[in-house]
Amino acid sequence: MKVPLSRPDITALEKKYVIKVLNSGHLSFGDTLLRFEQSFCDTFNVSHAAAMNSGTSALHVAVKALGLQTGDEVITTPYSFVASGNCLLYEGVKPVFVDIDSDTFNIDTTLIEPAITTNTKAILVVHVFGQPCNMDEIQRIADKHKLFIIEDACEAIGATWKGNPVGTLGDMGVFAFYPNKQITTGEGGILLTDNERYFNLACSLRNQGRDPGSDWLTHDRIGYNYRMSDLQAAVGLAQMERLKTILTKRERAAARYVRLIRKAGLPVKTLKPLPDSTMSWFVFIVKLPEGADRALVIERLARSGVQSKPYFPSIHLFPVYRSQYGFNPGDFPVSESTSDRTIAIPFYTNITFKEQSHVVKSLGEALKGED
Ligand SMILES: *Cc1c(COP(=O)(O)O)cnc(C)c1O
Repeated sequence: MKVPLSRPDITALEKKYVIKVLNSGHLSFGDTLLRFEQSFCDTFNVSHAAAMNSGTSALHVAVKALGLQTGDEVITTPYSFVASGNCLLYEGVKPVFVDIDSDTFNIDTTLIEPAITTNTKAILVVHVFGQPCNMDEIQRIADKHKLFIIEDACEAIGATWKGNPVGTLGDMGVFAFYPNKQITTGEGGILLTDNERYFNLACSLRNQGRDPGSDWLTHDRIGYNYRMSDLQAAVGLAQMERLKTILTKRERAAARYVRLIRKAGLPVKTLKPLPDSTMSWFVFIVKLPEGADRALVIERLARSGVQSKPYFPSIHLFPVYRSQYGFNPGDFPVSESTSDRTIAIPFYTNITFKEQSHVVKSLGEALKGED
């Protein structure tokens, strides 16, 4: 049996909407894009949503819309996908990493205040693997020190903190739609905000610096082509209509993994939702026991047809972060030891019980070394 790491869930509805756009003649900045954006305002009760061609683009635009620049510092987590760090580097903003909590893999909020300097302008939180950060603590610190909050909610669409959707809790929030995310547009992202000024700036920045209402060949500032096409929005609109079902299926699949792993008595750690929050399951991560040979586990899983990947390497140890900012191994021990021991195992909306049983059985054998 072959079980892939990830697989998008595309139905007849996505195909129908894409064909409709193709037939409409409006492939960019059409009605479908507006409807896709509106679906986020309605679903997440937020005033503005600006879709873009990737989550990374939307994060970059968020950083620019806040006016962050060289000399500014932003506090963030090293245990994330590289884009949450790179969006700062694009603008010469210094990433100030603080270590993570060993249970949630999210930023350790007790370490934020000691890292604040006179140059600190914002906290960029990442709800890693769909587990919300402690937003009460983040908000308290941001209020006290007058800092902006950017939420990288790229892995957390539909997750809630005390009943409120993540992605709408800071000054700006971003979701992403790469094919392994909860919902996809092939490639894509969206920026959410209640602030009209940030929204207008974001719309200009994604569209070659044209201010809203400006003529097509008027460029009011340096912008980018970060636009999402209506073909992508068509896929996304169908996915948004099915969001509840998708999230429920993923939650069920995650619960099945937890049960199967417990039943098999595997010595691995899995993520547990915190009491104050609901998770949105992005990938399924297991933390291997200390001393386990992860590369060998991954290789053995592959031999059983099970795809797996180390998830995530710590961002501060990538070459440019080390050379430009002097980060070294040992700087963030919890993040690094987590990076050394976590793997993502196959997880997607329509994963079957049979596939999951095979994964857990294979993982047990891989850990024991029985081939
Ligand atoms: C997926 C993801 C992004 C954005 O990725 P894109 O491929 O650019 O859409 C950003 N941050 C995190 C934490 C992610 O997982």
